[in-house]
Amino acid sequence: MKMNEFMWKGEFSNMIEELEVPDNWDLHVDMNLVKQKTGLIYTQQTFGSFRCARCARSWNSSKVSVLFIINLNKRLRSGTVKIRIFKQGCERCTHSEEIIPTVTSDNIERVVCNLVHKIQRKFYGVTDEYQHQKPKIYGPLEGLHNKERCEACRNGLCEQQMLSCKSEQNREQRDPATSTALSVMSLVTGVASIALMYFANK
Ligand SMILES: [Zn+2]
Ligand SMILES: [Zn+2]
Repeated sequence: MKMNEFMWKGEFSNMIEELEVPDNWDLHVDMNLVKQKTGLIYTQQTFGSFRCARCARSWNSSKVSVLFIINLNKRLRSGTVKIRIFKQGCERCTHSEEIIPTVTSDNIERVVCNLVHKIQRKFYGVTDEYQHQKPKIYGPLEGLHNKERCEACRNGLCEQQMLSCKSEQNREQRDPATSTALSVMSLVTGVASIALMYFANK
């Protein structure tokens, strides 16, 4: 299954026109896109549904990662956006191919709207009161985010993974407190053993 490039491109050019963004802008799908040194890196998470081709299991996720690399050539007045949507694998079929999610048109619209506002802010200095649009959730979500089965997690691009990295850092920061507690403990044990020795000698 392929990503619905047609819908993404259409929504993008509509939004560029609607918001009267200057210059010529184009959007391309690149399913091997990775972070680059040039261009603005922008990520979002949206809602998508998956269906395994092997066992027909289907699931939803609100952690579908989308990566954008945005470039503007000011001289040529031409802007390009490369987009990659990250796949997820079926939990039941270990070796099956990972699946591209289906994203509904209104969620595509929300993601693209956030993207075009980002372009306006970063490249044209537009400062408006725009509120980032969250995805619309359809149907029940999977319990926990399965990091092993998330392509974006493996690429270090999934927000979920970044969140868990942060909480690990917090845990490390708490370590001094633990070591203080340990030294208090050893002090107590020390005092106790001295006391024991004292009483044993009596
Ligand atoms: Zn399956
Ligand atoms: Zn992930």
